[in-house]
Amino acid sequence: MINQERIKNLLLELVQIDSVSRKEREVAERIRAICEEMGAEVEIDDAGSKVGGNTGNVIARFPGTIPGAEPIMMSAHMDTVVPGEGVRPVVEGDIIRTDGTTVLGGDDKSGCAVIIETIRCLQEQNVPHAPIDAVFSICEEVGLLGAKHLDLSKVRARYGLVFDSDDPGFLFTKGPSSNHFEFKIFGLESHAGVAPEQGISAIKIAAEGIAAMKLGRIDEETTANIGVIRGGEATNIITNLVLMSGEARSLDEDKLNAQTEHMIKCLTDAAEKYEVTVAGVTTKGRVESVVTREYFAMDVPDSSRVVRLVLDAATRMGLEVKTLASGGGCDANIFNKNGIECANLGTGMRAIHTVKEWLDVKDMYAAAEMTLEIMRLNGETARAAAGG
Ligand SMILES: [Zn+2]
Repeated sequence: MINQERIKNLLLELVQIDSVSRKEREVAERIRAICEEMGAEVEIDDAGSKVGGNTGNVIARFPGTIPGAEPIMMSAHMDTVVPGEGVRPVVEGDIIRTDGTTVLGGDDKSGCAVIIETIRCLQEQNVPHAPIDAVFSICEEVGLLGAKHLDLSKVRARYGLVFDSDDPGFLFTKGPSSNHFEFKIFGLESHAGVAPEQGISAIKIAAEGIAAMKLGRIDEETTANIGVIRGGEATNIITNLVLMSGEARSLDEDKLNAQTEHMIKCLTDAAEKYEVTVAGVTTKGRVESVVTREYFAMDVPDSSRVVRLVLDAATRMGLEVKTLASGGGCDANIFNKNGIECANLGTGMRAIHTVKEWLDVKDMYAAAEMTLEIMRLNGETARAAAGG
């Protein structure tokens, strides 16, 4: 059994330490101190300096108690979205929420708390277990940057779990690939009242292009969005520049490519309709598109070692865990791409990325109990493999 009071108090402590993305140092130092006290060898890598943050990822290597057992990873991210500073948690029975002015940061401090409580229980209850690499990452919320820059030479494990989703009854094993778009739409500046026929409105090109686009849910595997649009200085100027950013995601690489080309084509088709000649100089509407791959899809089969481990542990507890696909990306996308096979287990966080974020501690307890059983089963398997 886990210690409910202790994990709840740890969560309450962690959410009250500010750690918006790129400013995770204080919580990183606290987690480092906790893990060192628990006997881990802790390093902070140099990811922070690569992404303009004030700390790197915390990598805590805990020794195992089974000779020859292969290390397993447990990972959660330390950063939170905004508004995330000065969090004042409000406890109402089993529900923890905020005072309504900030997010709670249960995303993903509940994951951090589950990892620490599980390892404490393994140690206190002398449960035979494999070595554990606990990876507490930075900057997940701003593009999985901590995971992308994680110093893999400091991580022994090549499989494990990420704790960064809502319902503890779900294990996310598939996630989409994601493309990020930056569009620059060029028109031609002119006086809107005196010489409108000498201008090309970048706003009109953008509007026509967006109106022609399929956006939102494209199909069950694919989504797309234009999230930011900026342009224009005054009502009496025909605007010559609009900046837009957007994204597309899909579990299927071909569908993602098709959606990406579709969005670019809608804008270039709209731009090509516009052309003016002023004093012998011809100007056409024009679009510059920069597409960046944010992350690659993950697809961990149900037959994989880590998924079997979770499902078997759930069965032993008389519980059912479902594997499913997420529409979101998380550190697990990056870890899988970089050779650490992992799936994403829920911890009870709800209404994340809003000031209404809340968490039912019973869900977090359930996630920790499940994780303890997963580590126990993993240890038994390792012992059996080592010949008892
Ligand atoms: Zn998260």
